[in-house]
Amino acid sequence: MEEYGVIVIGGGNAALCGALAARHAGSRVLVLERAPQHMRGGNTRHTRNIRCTHAAADQFFSGPYSEEEHLQDLIGVTGEPANLDLAKLAVRESSKLPEWMSAHGVSWQQPLAGTLHLGRTNRWFLGGGKALLNAYYQTACRMGISIRYNAMIEDVVIENGRFEGVRLKSGETEEFIRARAVVVAATSNGSRSTGETQQTISSSAARRTTTECCLPLS
Ligand SMILES: Cc1cc2nc3c(=O)[nH]c(=O)nc-3n(C[C@H](O)[C@H](O)[C@H](O)COP(=O)(O)OP(=O)(O)OC[C@H]3O[C@@H](n4cnc5c(N)ncnc54)[C@H](O)[C@@H]3O)c2cc1C
Repeated sequence: MEEYGVIVIGGGNAALCGALAARHAGSRVLVLERAPQHMRGGNTRHTRNIRCTHAAADQFFSGPYSEEEHLQDLIGVTGEPANLDLAKLAVRESSKLPEWMSAHGVSWQQPLAGTLHLGRTNRWFLGGGKALLNAYYQTACRMGISIRYNAMIEDVVIENGRFEGVRLKSGETEEFIRARAVVVAATSNGSRSTGETQQTISSSAARRTTTECCLPLS
């Protein structure tokens, strides 16, 4: 039975970032995305920008955005965070995002003019969420990360407190894949896009169109 170091469940922003980070750490990584390839990426496909802390205006930001202001904005949306230290860490580390994302293929554009006034706080992806996903998937393939589509995870198997593997359904076929660790990045919030994805999976169930890319890490 084939064994991976890390299985990543999901195929959106969180999943791909987890997969890339695990691969950088030297693991053999498998991404399991329930959607078919042309629908990959969940709600990430709809995103356009990312909020990050920065000290000054530059080519892409119209002004500074401090850690303190960013944290207060976060608290304003979520209420007092369950884990304040984690929230502070996310806010602080967000300053490194543009560089990390660029290094993994993401391109940027000037803030959009119009009704949204996020040009000071948010960086905009050139081409939106689909382009972001395409960049991450291409980088993942180049780095030797394996990717399977139409791979619906049905169970995460934990025995004696230890992760053993995942059960997945691909068309009519059920499968167990073993790994040493798992990253669960599979949101399911009943949004329109999620419904569409599910519908596509059912209609293509008989075809079992699994795509894999597995290249050596150079
Ligand atoms: C219209 C819209 C616009 C948005 N705009 C922005 C924006 O501009 N900036 C911003 O920061 N945020 C934005 N968001 C929020 C953003 O989309 C989410 O925060 C982000 O997509 C979350 O990423 P994720 O990887 O956790 O989930 P998702 O991107 O939703 O990915 C979840 C993945 O899990 C897969 N999956 C689910 N169940 C299973 C399973 N059982 N087995 C295998 N795979 C599974 C799905 O197919 C999908 O690939 C927007 C959201 C929407 C709806």
